[in-house]
Amino acid sequence: MNKTLNHKVHETVRWLRKSWQKCSSLHRFVAFSTGKDSLALAAMLYEAVGEEQPPCLYVHHDLEFPLNLEYVHLVRGRKGFNIQILRPHLEYFELMNRGMGFITLKEPWCIPLLIGTGLADWLRHEGAGSTREAIMFRGMSGSEFSHSLHRRLELYKHLDMPCFNPMLQFSTDEIIDISKKRYGLPINPIYEHMSRSYCICCYTSDTRRQAYSKRHFPHVCRRYYGQIDNLLFKSGLIERAHLDEKFKTKEEKLSKHGFIHWKRLPEQVEVAALRHQLPSGALVYLIKDESLISEKHLMPLQGRWHREGNEIRFWDVAQRDSDIVIRRMLNCIDCGFCMIECFRYKRFDRKKKILQIEGCTQCGKCLRLAFCMGWKHRFWRRDIRSIPDGR
Ligand code: SF4
Ligand code: SF4
Ligand code: SF4
Repeated sequence: MNKTLNHKVHETVRWLRKSWQKCSSLHRFVAFSTGKDSLALAAMLYEAVGEEQPPCLYVHHDLEFPLNLEYVHLVRGRKGFNIQILRPHLEYFELMNRGMGFITLKEPWCIPLLIGTGLADWLRHEGAGSTREAIMFRGMSGSEFSHSLHRRLELYKHLDMPCFNPMLQFSTDEIIDISKKRYGLPINPIYEHMSRSYCICCYTSDTRRQAYSKRHFPHVCRRYYGQIDNLLFKSGLIERAHLDEKFKTKEEKLSKHGFIHWKRLPEQVEVAALRHQLPSGALVYLIKDESLISEKHLMPLQGRWHREGNEIRFWDVAQRDSDIVIRRMLNCIDCGFCMIECFRYKRFDRKKKILQIEGCTQCGKCLRLAFCMGWKHRFWRRDIRSIPDGR
């Protein structure tokens, strides 16, 4: 390693030691992806405060290469890193079967749902009151496409969690040098087949990764692209898109990953509830399909609603708030992600695979849709139509 790099590493190790200690009142951890950047970060953090055994959290899900798991065991054995293997609430295909849309460039849901839910459960188990009581050390390096948009300390919006990015000044070559030469650590062998540590199917396109996955995991690839094919082509939706004909082909949308630019069409929204206001001011929602009613979603407004059959009536409630709970209820896929808004009363039941809300105190903090994955990413969204005269 050259002198300049040595100096950079020394500085970073010093900074990591200081920051780790400064944040002792928070739940501190490394987001360990098995990629080279988070490996170099873990190694430097262990040089700084190894005696504290910082937790390195790796969330393994079904769209990940099995090789990553073997690699985790190898690194753990080699350096004694405290790497913990977590699982998401639900796997990719489970989520798709519950109605999620495929992953696009707009707020990719794989991060919160396939990784974030595993991290959130770990934090809850550690006694955190919310994701704001954690600090994530993340290996985002200068080789990442979007590194210039990030700061050393920022709020990781996907999880509403403070986050350090101590690796922004390091290039790919430097990171490989640090891991191999300074710490004698092996790089994940998956890099022999692709430039980044992708998933088996990733919404970002890389022809080497695609070729490798097609060869080794044909079943997963068939299922992944088959679902997108169903949603866009077999449903006939593609014909409704205002796109040039050359952007409507399977070659363009599936083989070239054109689906990542898909924008929700009005045809993807169905009216599932009718709303009108009574002269008394009460708001009435008629739910078209009674099986979509799940009263747990109404808890934040407990004591101010009444249900009769498929009709839900609210009083002393602003329309904004009743619309939120109704929209959440209509679109809920029981992913459990919204627990990050309320660790105390919301949790994901891993046996039943559903969100549970118990003990809600009606504080109102979760009366927003920002963290509802069903509302944001359900492919066929269900919405409310207003009928002003009540007919
Ligand atoms: S590798 Fe791709 S699909 Fe997998 S979590 Fe990262 S962005 Fe999502
Ligand atoms: S955030 Fe407040 S309103 Fe929402 S579930 Fe928790 S206690 Fe209830
Ligand atoms: S309300 Fe939204 S975030 Fe919560 S479990 Fe349902 S879909 Fe997921």
